[in-house]
Amino acid sequence: MKTFKRTLLAGALALLSLPVMADAAHPKIGFSIDDLRLERWSRDRDYFVAAAEKLDAKVFVQSADANEQKQISQIENLISRGVDVIVIVPFNATVLTNAVAEAKKAGIKVVSYDRLILNADIDAYISFDNEKVGEMQAGGVLKAAPKGNYFLLGGAPTDNNAKILREGQMKVLQPAIDKGDIKIVGQQWVKEWNPTEALSIVENALTRNNNKIDGIVASNDATAGGAIQALAAQKMAGKVPISGQDADLAAVKRVLDGTQTMTVYKPLKLIASEAAKLSVQLARNEKPTYSSQYDNGNKKVDTILLTPTALTKDNIDLLEKDGFYTKAQIAGQ
Ligand code: BGC
Repeated sequence: MKTFKRTLLAGALALLSLPVMADAAHPKIGFSIDDLRLERWSRDRDYFVAAAEKLDAKVFVQSADANEQKQISQIENLISRGVDVIVIVPFNATVLTNAVAEAKKAGIKVVSYDRLILNADIDAYISFDNEKVGEMQAGGVLKAAPKGNYFLLGGAPTDNNAKILREGQMKVLQPAIDKGDIKIVGQQWVKEWNPTEALSIVENALTRNNNKIDGIVASNDATAGGAIQALAAQKMAGKVPISGQDADLAAVKRVLDGTQTMTVYKPLKLIASEAAKLSVQLARNEKPTYSSQYDNGNKKVDTILLTPTALTKDNIDLLEKDGFYTKAQIAGQ
């Protein structure tokens, strides 16, 4: 008898968490993030949760710690929790086709955050204009080193952004290559955007080229940090122009010190709050406003693309004005 009662109770509880019980006034959002151990993604999480809660939504956050299998099971877990929307920062753009299909089958909307999920039936994509970011990176290095040998330090090969950044970079570099002003002496993708991997790639590049590298187009601040360590070991830090993106605190300090030429500021509060708004609208079956569409191999995905800003020593105070860092953070050791 006791067992029967317990089974009944379990059944009733299970019913309560079924998607049919979705409450449009208080949507439930799952946020599956590639890797919360990185500075930028934990800021995205904080801004996203705050913005979603303001819109009366509840957010369940998961970090896959750069592990594609873990991310898939976390998405499956969010599906069984009966969330209304799943927002995903994919670790690997190409392995989520089935997980997304399962979510869609359960009536859950899926949003791709910052990085595009390929070959999957997602509902929306929100990011910064990554091609522009790539153009800014190459443009910043080219301005500081209009001639010479270039090394291209790409992002993670599993991240679609890495490819778009490269397209933007090449748009700017190609005319200089064609004129014979610059020569690409090497290019490599950096697994998982890992700074230590970036360090050893640049170390090897320097050795192979007898240190004759005049510019490095690095695709983010974390990998630029690794590259600058390799340059420093050869007493070349500050002599070889190098790009980045994210306005990571360490990178901002390097820009001020002169060891990193530029970074790209992408206001995370903006993408996070726009994504929260978009997710709540989807949960409530309202129509979000999109700025473009992006082909992900499965369909033309409705997309919101936000505008990045290139930062050098000259305009880096924007970060303080915009409340991204305090003066004390920037000045701190
Ligand atoms: C993001 C960058 C970030 C990188 C590593 C990219 O997809 O757009 O902002 O630095 O991933 O996490």
